[in-house]
Amino acid sequence: MIGLFLALQIAGAAAAVPIPTFIVVRDGAVTASVPVTINGGEPSVRADVLMKAMKGALITGTNLHYTLVLARTKLDLIDGIPFAKLDTLTIPLTRAPQVRGGQLYLPFQFVSEVIPRYAGGYVYDVVLGELRTFVGPNAGVATAAGKTPAVRAPVAIRPSTPVTTNNPASTLPKAKSVSVPAKAKPIQRKLVVIDAGHGGPDNGMTGPIGTTPWFLEKDVTLSMAKKLATVLRARGVDVLMTRTTDTLVALADRGKIANSNHGDVFISVHVNAPGYNTAAAARERGFETYFLAEAKTEDERRVQDMENESVKFETGAGAPKGDPLSFIITDMAQNEHLRESNDLAQTIQNGLIEVHPGPNRGVQQANFAVLRGSYMPAVLIEIGFGSNQSEATFLSDDANQRALARNIAESVIAYLAHYESRIGGTR
Ligand SMILES: [Zn+2]
Repeated sequence: MIGLFLALQIAGAAAAVPIPTFIVVRDGAVTASVPVTINGGEPSVRADVLMKAMKGALITGTNLHYTLVLARTKLDLIDGIPFAKLDTLTIPLTRAPQVRGGQLYLPFQFVSEVIPRYAGGYVYDVVLGELRTFVGPNAGVATAAGKTPAVRAPVAIRPSTPVTTNNPASTLPKAKSVSVPAKAKPIQRKLVVIDAGHGGPDNGMTGPIGTTPWFLEKDVTLSMAKKLATVLRARGVDVLMTRTTDTLVALADRGKIANSNHGDVFISVHVNAPGYNTAAAARERGFETYFLAEAKTEDERRVQDMENESVKFETGAGAPKGDPLSFIITDMAQNEHLRESNDLAQTIQNGLIEVHPGPNRGVQQANFAVLRGSYMPAVLIEIGFGSNQSEATFLSDDANQRALARNIAESVIAYLAHYESRIGGTR
């Protein structure tokens, strides 16, 4: 049943961005084409062919390490690991780069998202299947005003490395200081970080109570997170997922991933369970949304302790250090977003009333480790009780998951629009 969810999800995710049979890499009038091949049902491009088309280089290191060298940036990859590294920045990938027949293949996401976002100076045109360079703040806008309205202005690019003055990239606008002609109506792209709770050895809650457990929280949160990502991407919002597979990401690292990628909003998806195991507990149901604050009630403290339990699965560098000073700094950084986090939680909670059988358990506050590390409006959604037979069945249903994901996405978009109008989009 879980396998089926994942299969459906992969098909759904692939359908969100049209996959051409080849992409065109364009630098002014100069073009080169790069075939898109399907490997194991997934669209991929050959790293060496892409680098040649982009006038970059693919360097093969030792121990399955690879480096993509482009004019303005270098990305490090490891065969079989679904992350790319840009200096100290970790970029989650939809799928691991893979060597087949002696060649390194990159997930198509590299062309559609990673290079436009991180390489600096590229936009990907979904309509034409074209990855092209732009120079200066107005080049992309001129194109966007032309026959390819799907192209977004270079405001979509968030340079993640400092630009030096002797580099042509210095003309690249930073996301905060873009000036473009008013008629171009550029969309300030937002980045939503979606965190699927638990993963790997940490199953999260299992249920329902009174059955041989068939409901694993980690699987439902991942399936939900992917659906939410698909809807948001289709609506022109950038999405970063802290995990896209059944892996464990340390609680502290989930926030770090969000921060280092400059997320605008952080959403952690979980499934609830009561703290006891009785017939009454089996009847508990409903949805609630948390934002970060000191836990107030017994029930809030229970959920907090349950979700923070994941730490025990973490070892080594990812585990919290417990440095009191870092906690104070983290607290201060998060505090300025408390109000926004509360607003976001309220918007999501109110939206869910439309699609969730309920009951509505309201907006709650707790001191979650996963929310503590993210310096942006951050919420944790408990989408229901997997401990309850009927709610576990409801939450496992693909159509219900889609409805919940669409609803949450609409709330996030409404929140972002509201937030933008309030602060003038200068965040
Ligand atoms: Zn959980």
